[in-house]
Amino acid sequence: MKLPQWVRRLVFQNWYSAPDRLPLSHKRVSRQSIWRQYAWRQYGWRVALFAAIVLLQVTWARMPVRSTELPIELNSPMNSPMNSPVNSPVNSPAEFRTCRPNTQFTTVRSSDQVPLAQTSNLGELLSNLSPALAAQFPAPFPQINGIARLARVPVIMYHDILPEKEVFFDVTPSEFTAALELIRTNGLMPISLDQLTQHLATGVQLPEKPILLTFDDGYKGHYESVYPLIKQYGYPALFAIYPEKVGTGSDIGRSSLTWEQLREMAADPLVTIASHSFTHPLDMTQLPDDRLRYEVAESKRVLETNLGMTLKYFVYPSGKNDERVQHWVQMAGYRAALTMNDEVDKFAGESENLLSIDRIGQSSLAEVIQSAYGGAPLPPFGNSLNLGTDVKLDRRTVNKVPLIMASGGRPTTIHAKSRYQVPEIIANTPAVAAVDGGFFSLENLDSNVMVGPVLSQSTQEFIPSVRQEVGLLVGRPLILISPDKVLFVPFDSVKHNSLAGVQAEMPQVTDAFVGAAWLVKDGQPQPTESFGKLYGFDASRDRAYWGINYAGQPVVGVSGDYVDSVTLGKALSQAGLRDAVMLDSGASASLAYEGKSMMSYEPRPVPHVVALLPPNPTLAACAIVSEKQDQE
Ligand SMILES: [Zn+2]
Repeated sequence: MKLPQWVRRLVFQNWYSAPDRLPLSHKRVSRQSIWRQYAWRQYGWRVALFAAIVLLQVTWARMPVRSTELPIELNSPMNSPMNSPVNSPVNSPAEFRTCRPNTQFTTVRSSDQVPLAQTSNLGELLSNLSPALAAQFPAPFPQINGIARLARVPVIMYHDILPEKEVFFDVTPSEFTAALELIRTNGLMPISLDQLTQHLATGVQLPEKPILLTFDDGYKGHYESVYPLIKQYGYPALFAIYPEKVGTGSDIGRSSLTWEQLREMAADPLVTIASHSFTHPLDMTQLPDDRLRYEVAESKRVLETNLGMTLKYFVYPSGKNDERVQHWVQMAGYRAALTMNDEVDKFAGESENLLSIDRIGQSSLAEVIQSAYGGAPLPPFGNSLNLGTDVKLDRRTVNKVPLIMASGGRPTTIHAKSRYQVPEIIANTPAVAAVDGGFFSLENLDSNVMVGPVLSQSTQEFIPSVRQEVGLLVGRPLILISPDKVLFVPFDSVKHNSLAGVQAEMPQVTDAFVGAAWLVKDGQPQPTESFGKLYGFDASRDRAYWGINYAGQPVVGVSGDYVDSVTLGKALSQAGLRDAVMLDSGASASLAYEGKSMMSYEPRPVPHVVALLPPNPTLAACAIVSEKQDQE
């Protein structure tokens, strides 16, 4: 069988780039056709990859649902979660229902929706292709990709390593060996700056617990102690060198590497050499343009000439840099630059951009390796949600705002019969984590009446809002959940107060309720103006929220301290949330994880939660069947 010309060209041509294929030797080739050939060689395979993925996804979406994915009743002993307590402190605060086979389930899996179960080989293939595809479409330089904000990569900064300490940040060889042992026994995987920058630009996942080791100023001990040890452990490391010092003995800045030692290290694949300027000025932000250009460009030229390699990275002396310094670093052809910050320890993903990647002093090593994390998997291509990962707890402090969050799994809501503590509400369900949900009426202590319309998977009943209050909710985020989608839309009191109305917005809707306000919308933290007249939005309070992160995972969480809404939105955006909605603030803000309250106080009981179920596809949700009569 002979393939059509265009297919052969698409598939084969780009695998060869031999110069003899260039049509330049043909006399009558037009400029246009040279460009066309060039364009195919440059971009053809990307187009082919893209087409293949689209084709796979379409095929996958059209595959029939397999019998093994049929849901099973949760209440049967076989499927009850292992960790649910035998005796719940209250009698069934909430029923947790799933569909029965052959009822609503098939309507959920209609052919126009992509099945969520990531169990098929095609699904795995797509997930595996995602990183390759992401690498082709990085965030615009020097921005950090939103997904990379979810990871926590410590970049550790060392200075001299020598037998006798002279200043506090000196490290002895035995202390450094102990640090390497600490890294090894804690299961950390040192990575190179190449790996880190690719991750920061594309969001591609790193090893589970990554760390990057860096050594500044080119001391003799880097050759005598550090280099043999990193070879012994097989760990990559970065050395920041300023040429003025190399080979000077101890005249400038104590001991120094020689060019010969440096060449030997640079030739080792474990070693990355970066420029640390030419003369190590005290503060590069104070230098005039011509001197700046000299420091960044001349140091690059001299190091490249002496080492016979291209230098890609710059390390600011004493971390000092600003926009102008970054500009010159970029102009000199560097692809990334490292800085340092004495005040706060920041992981790489919290950095401003690729031209100022933060580092952490070596004295914090033992502390920061406890939270090293390689990031979430990329969402399956073409699907903004990734509901196939395990639910995990994450505590971190961003811009001085402590955050307690659980992410992963699949979102659902539970509308309980009365008010309970959040751990009580999820006690007899498979939910791994939950946060208190929408606003509720304060009329009676045991009332479960919500403010605004509510539809919950747990009751499978749509309860409209009382007419008097519905107008107050206009424009607030209406949260809609279906088995494969989550939507946050501005609430419309005419359109959204009936089951038909919310189904018009999302046909397979399983859960709906109205939240307090957007904290982050399409990646943008919301400004003061966006909160309008929302009562107390600018007060410092405990706050509960939920949303979707850049990896497409659902997230539920609380602030670990009093915070106002605008500050919280900024922190959540920095922590990698693409969309986040505030659910509650004050004394009922509550997060439960694996059956336990994550709060330092006992919150007020609530009737409604947003919960994260494990990614198990047999816990499929189903569309809604009934509607309560409108309340007058
Ligand atoms: Zn330095």
